[in-house]
Amino acid sequence: MRLGAGRRRGRVAAGRARAAGLCLAALASAGCAQAQAGAAAGADDAAADTAAVTDTAAAGIDTAAAVTDTARAGAPAYEIRGARWWNGEGFEPRTMHVAGGRFVQRPPGRADSVLDLSGAWVVPPYGEAHTHSPAYSRERVEAFERAGVFYAMIMNVHASTWAENASWFEGPVEATATVAAFTAPNGHPVQFGLRGGGRLEEFDGDWITAVASEADVEAKWAATAALNRDFIKTFLLYSDRYEERASDETIPPRYRGMDPALLPGLVRRAHAAGLRVATHVRTRHDFAVAAAAGTDILAHLPGFSMGPGSLEEFDDPDRRADLENPDRFRLTPADVAAAADAGVTVITTIGSLGQPLPEDIDPDARAYVEGLWRVRRDILAHNLRLLRDAGVTIAIGSDAGEGDPVEEALVVHELDVFDPAEILHMLAAESPRLIFPERRIGRLEEGFEASFLALEANPLEDMAALRRIRLRFKGAPLPN
Ligand SMILES: [Zn+2]
Repeated sequence: MRLGAGRRRGRVAAGRARAAGLCLAALASAGCAQAQAGAAAGADDAAADTAAVTDTAAAGIDTAAAVTDTARAGAPAYEIRGARWWNGEGFEPRTMHVAGGRFVQRPPGRADSVLDLSGAWVVPPYGEAHTHSPAYSRERVEAFERAGVFYAMIMNVHASTWAENASWFEGPVEATATVAAFTAPNGHPVQFGLRGGGRLEEFDGDWITAVASEADVEAKWAATAALNRDFIKTFLLYSDRYEERASDETIPPRYRGMDPALLPGLVRRAHAAGLRVATHVRTRHDFAVAAAAGTDILAHLPGFSMGPGSLEEFDDPDRRADLENPDRFRLTPADVAAAADAGVTVITTIGSLGQPLPEDIDPDARAYVEGLWRVRRDILAHNLRLLRDAGVTIAIGSDAGEGDPVEEALVVHELDVFDPAEILHMLAAESPRLIFPERRIGRLEEGFEASFLALEANPLEDMAALRRIRLRFKGAPLPN
């Protein structure tokens, strides 16, 4: 098991962790925060003019649409031979045709070119349902392209950054994004913006929208709604204890979200404006509150982050309380039934199930850490099994600073809840459809967008084959 470098960094109290040869970063609710924190550090160039930001962002989106249409109109026709094609359940040998950027039954005339993909296993491109870092790093966009991740959901980015960088997603990698997520003025993830002397006023309305009351929502809604085209993001953390924690400044922001009483109203406003709602959830109570409020997307699977995030935090009773109260993270049949009725999609963001410990670790520490991983792993598997059995849609999202959804898919596979076909379906069909619900993607059939990956081996036999890409195709072959 390998941890993404982004998860290895940052969270852990570096000195102590190094001394112990230990890193527990993957256990922390670090994913979102790390990418955002890195970005927050460079956020000083944030554009102050909200109207300008909105216009630029909108222009970027329109341009992307125009580019796609132009590509289709002039796209050459292809005949693709020799491969086995994913049909949603398994692979079957077919000859496929592409014209005008879509799969067609027969080409309108002679194919402009014939691709021989003999021996290849063809799957739809992958979707990353929860990420931040590509919005801040062009290298990350390029890494997604190489990994066959053509669709990404940017689960919050500075509006000012997105206005500048949205054009990165007009190529093979496309994204939908939300900006200025709703949270409490002292709630997750503001701690990362405040680091190094940052002030809330500097990023409120750009990176997050700080709301403590319905009056705040009323005052700030219009500006944040205008910045968003597709969906908004909201934060719930330990919502069952919101009241007792709201003004307790000994509780760090990473353990606190917005007032859950504000969520139903935000969902109503968003839906009236044609926007979807994603909610960061940490506990099963957060999950239930969000599903009941009508949230469309649960940005995390409860249990994804529980317990101490570093060795220093092992002595913190608040962190240890997670482990002493695992039912705080364990979904119930009633929770998932409500989520199924509400039609929500749940994004995995598991990140890691643990890692090998150094030989010379103190035995008590080893027992504690391994126990922690075991509890967390059991809860994640339990939650996924319930969700699957209830028919809740699950999408693959890594929330990783440097990893990708393929890595996440392999981790989900390790939980022994889903077979490889189910995981491929989540990665290459459900995630893309969550990201672009209006588009015909995620299937290799007539009328669908002609985008695919030709793999060297059968991923149902070895999921690592998801990484062995011979050819990437999006309307036309992409350069290798
Ligand atoms: Zn995130």
